[in-house]
Amino acid sequence: MTGNRLVVLAGPTAVGKGTVAAAVREQHPDVWISVSVTTRRARPGEVDGVHYHFVDDVEFDRLVAEGELLEWAVVHKAARYGTPRGPVVTSLEAGRPSMLEIDLQGARQVRETMPEAVFVFLKPPSWDELVRRLVGRGTETAEERERRLDTARAELAAEREFDVTIVNHEVHAAADELVALMESGTSSSA
Ligand code: 5GP
Repeated sequence: MTGNRLVVLAGPTAVGKGTVAAAVREQHPDVWISVSVTTRRARPGEVDGVHYHFVDDVEFDRLVAEGELLEWAVVHKAARYGTPRGPVVTSLEAGRPSMLEIDLQGARQVRETMPEAVFVFLKPPSWDELVRRLVGRGTETAEERERRLDTARAELAAEREFDVTIVNHEVHAAADELVALMESGTSSSA
């Protein structure tokens, strides 16, 4: 491979993975970003084939059964999400810097099948900031709030499983750091 590498971006809920991925998409059109399949419904403004491939349970079952997904997981106990394998392989073969933005369960699966990828943990600037982002709207019950915080604690502990940590102080800086990792082509992991 000539300098191209697969970067897997994961991190705790509400850390801003999606926003950082969107910044990469805007500022670095040379980077290929995987489009996941999901069984959740499209939100207003989301376009099928751009933000996600929106599929029903039958189609998701078929993709799993035929081994077409590199990884998949149930996220937030709500819907299934997965990474189509073919486009990842094609992009890497074409020598493009490539990225997956997936949850922790998915990152662990890719670690098993593509250990040569670079696993990046996106971390909030502080615990307090994560709490603000998680419970900021103040619409949850006390139990719901506790449940989310428990999940966030467990997710933050996953940092040590990753090769590199990027702190999400500012979205564009985080995006630039990520792209530099993809383009460096050497194993600069800490
Ligand atoms: P949302 O529904 O808000 O777009 O995404 C919810 C969560 O699903 C995010 O944490 C995102 O990282 C994760 N996710 C998106 N696509 C995939 C995927 O293909 N595989 C896995 N494992 N998680 C995904």
